[in-house]
Amino acid sequence: MRALPLVADRQLVIAEVPPPPPPAAGEVQIRVKAVALNHIDVWGYRGMAFAKRKLPLVVGAEASGEIAAVGEGVARFRPGQPVVMYGALTCGDCRACKEGRDNLCENVAGIMGFHVDGFARELVNLAERLVIAVPDGVSERDAACAPIAFSTVQHMLFDNAKLQGGEAILVHAGGSGIGTVAIMMAKAIGCTVITTVGDDTKINGVKALGADHVINYRKDRFEHETRKITNKKGVDVVFEHVGADTFNGSLLTLKRGGRLVLRLVRRDHAQYCRKPRQNGSRHASGDRHRGADRGCRRRAEAHGKPASVRQDRR
Ligand SMILES: [Zn+2]
Repeated sequence: MRALPLVADRQLVIAEVPPPPPPAAGEVQIRVKAVALNHIDVWGYRGMAFAKRKLPLVVGAEASGEIAAVGEGVARFRPGQPVVMYGALTCGDCRACKEGRDNLCENVAGIMGFHVDGFARELVNLAERLVIAVPDGVSERDAACAPIAFSTVQHMLFDNAKLQGGEAILVHAGGSGIGTVAIMMAKAIGCTVITTVGDDTKINGVKALGADHVINYRKDRFEHETRKITNKKGVDVVFEHVGADTFNGSLLTLKRGGRLVLRLVRRDHAQYCRKPRQNGSRHASGDRHRGADRGCRRRAEAHGKPASVRQDRR
């Protein structure tokens, strides 16, 4: 069967690989139909010095497909059924997993497509508990975006921030992957959405997604603009995923009793990680960069873990 492995940093090839064996007990075999692209794929493609992994490695951290075969004891799925896959190999046994909070699993065996072989291949075997049925009417392409991009935002907005219809929310970086999803989800339940962009060319795009107010944070201070828009009240929820540059300002935009929901990743550190290797060391220019590398490892790992995909959430 065909697969898309990364054979070296920035080098992908289409390769023939052996198909998987029939699914074991408790496993399903999935015919992959669509693979999404996330920032973790870009990081993996560029190469990260710290990532514990071996090349070649099949890419693809998020995908949809259909059941090709089921192993012994699997009753939830039948061949032909459309599904999405959860690519974090959580243990299923720890307290977090048993509570349905897989994103906090203490024994993750790796992120598929980043640490271990991912979904960009024709067939893949996976534990039944990491597979979710796709409802009727959802396309393969749309379903492929659910496990990371949409479930991360769903978890942040509804499980954690308890966002309610009619509330006002500030969504940072509305043109980013999870920023666009946050705008759409907040509008879907009737929120007032204020969003920031770093470039005027993104304004029409975020408005088309439903944003009510758009602030170019390079031209105007978003905290002042947000307070103006809300008649000095502030917003109910801030969707914060930028980091140090915006964190303090985000606190200032909250109304009394407001909630700030945070996804831990700092772009400045992510950028340090992309510095080219110099003199045999990725961060050759001193302690600052070595420190950044350590911080970046923690943050990137947090970033790489998709949010909980509990089916019975609400
Ligand atoms: Zn676990």
